[in-house]
Amino acid sequence: MVQSTLVVDIVELQRRTGTRRPVRADLALSDTEVGDRSVVGGLLAVDVVVEAATEGIVVSGNVSGVSRATCRRCLDDVDEPFQIELREIFERHPTEGETWPIEDERIDLVPVVRELALLALPLAPLCRDDCTGPDTDRFPTGPAEGTDGPESDEPQRDPRWAALDALAFDDVASEVGEDHC
Ligand SMILES: [Zn+2]
Repeated sequence: MVQSTLVVDIVELQRRTGTRRPVRADLALSDTEVGDRSVVGGLLAVDVVVEAATEGIVVSGNVSGVSRATCRRCLDDVDEPFQIELREIFERHPTEGETWPIEDERIDLVPVVRELALLALPLAPLCRDDCTGPDTDRFPTGPAEGTDGPESDEPQRDPRWAALDALAFDDVASEVGEDHC
């Protein structure tokens, strides 16, 4: 069952320090985008253990989902599964930016899960290691010329490069060497 809230009652847990309770949930959260980066569908699988400790309530385990961001070279969507290890502490008097609040003998895991997921979104991914940039068929860089040849995945090259191709590296190296002798 997919849910949008995840509040854990800690009354039972707090009766004895060291009591552990597994919590698993499939969440569909709103507000899981930052610019062009997002969690696909806002879907996050939570698999944690909630434990009563002397310092408060400790939540540890992992959160997983699929991130979507824009390839920094070709601008296609890049979807990547991610998993975050977490260990967070909930306290009655939380420290801003470090621990989370216990309110009415309950802890709310949604803000924690959302924050950690947003931090896990890749900043400038590549769709694949050898992505060379925009697909020339979809984003033509100039007017098509000489289209009578067979279709090719190779980008069209300026014919003037052929002159450079004709130079062999050995020739260039020996010429430089002679200049210095
Ligand atoms: Zn790409």
